[in-house]
Amino acid sequence: MLKGKSAIVTGSTSGIGEGIATAFAAAGCNVMLNGFGDAQKIEKLWAGLEKGNGVKVLYSPADMTRPDQIADMVKSAEEIFGGVDILVNNAGIQHVAPIDEFPPEKWDAIIAINLSSAFHAIRSALPGMKKRKWGRIINIASAHGLVASPFKSAYVAAKHGIIGMTKTVALEVAEQGVTCNAICPGYVKTPLVEGQISDQAKARNMTPAEVVKNVILAAQPTKQFVTVDQINALTLFLADNNGASINGTSISIDGGWTAQ
Ligand code: NAD
Repeated sequence: MLKGKSAIVTGSTSGIGEGIATAFAAAGCNVMLNGFGDAQKIEKLWAGLEKGNGVKVLYSPADMTRPDQIADMVKSAEEIFGGVDILVNNAGIQHVAPIDEFPPEKWDAIIAINLSSAFHAIRSALPGMKKRKWGRIINIASAHGLVASPFKSAYVAAKHGIIGMTKTVALEVAEQGVTCNAICPGYVKTPLVEGQISDQAKARNMTPAEVVKNVILAAQPTKQFVTVDQINALTLFLADNNGASINGTSISIDGGWTAQ
C-alpha cells in the first residue's frame, strides 16, 4: 500500500509511535525510527521490521527538544531513503499537576516535545515534499487538543497548539500534493498513560484502580481504551492516496469523549 514510500515516525520506540512504524513497515514503507529507550529493545525492533518486511529501517536518537538534532534526523533520512514522503509527529510526554504547582521545566519540556518538535520537523521535511509534489504530515494530537482536563495545563496547551499548526500548514500546502492532519486519540493504554495513572492518583487522592474507572474511562463513553491497532488503521488511511482530500482536519478516535 505504501510501497516505495519513506516515513519518519518520531517517538516510535514505544506505544502509539511503535505501532505506527510497525504498520508502515508492514505496508512496504521505509521507516526512520526515533525515540529513547533500552538499546537492545530498539535494536530488536529495528532488525525485526527490516527483516520481516523487506524495507529499509533507520534509527535516529534525535532528542525532540533539540532543533539541530531534528534537522539532522530529517537530513539523514532524506539522504539515505532519497526523500521523506510521510512525517508522523508523535513523540510526546505528559506531566500531571495543578498549575500553581506545575514545574516550569516540565512546562518547557512538554511544549518543546509535544509542539515545537513538530514545527522543526515540518520545516525541515516540507521542502522535499513540495519538490516531489507528494507528502503526508500526520500530527498525533489528542482529545486534549479539543477539550481540557484539570492538571494538564502544558499538555492541553501543546495539543491545542498542534491542531492550530495543522490547519495552518494544511492551507499552505494544499495545492502541492501535500496534506497535513491531526489525529486526536482518547485514552490508549501505553506507558504514557500507565505513568499518568499513578500521578493522577496522587493529584486526586484516589487509588490507581479508581483513577482508571472514575477518571480515565469515565471520559470515554465506550468505557474502553482506544487500541494502537485502531490508530494504525487511521494513520495508514491518511498516509495512502485515499487520504489525498483529507486536509487540515483533526480526526477524533476517542470512543465519543469529545462528542459530550
Ligand atoms: P509513550 O510514552 O509510549 O511513547 C512516547 C515516545 O516518545 C517514546 O518513543 C519516547 O522515547 C519518545 N520521546 C519522549 N521524549 C522524547 C524526546 N525528547 N525525543 C525523542 N523522543 C522522545 O507514549 P504514547 O502513549 O505512545 O504517546 C505517543 C503520542 O500519542 C504522544 O504525542 C501522546 O501525547 C499522544 N497521545 C497518547 C494518548 C494515550 O492515551 N496514550 C492519547 C492521546 C494522544
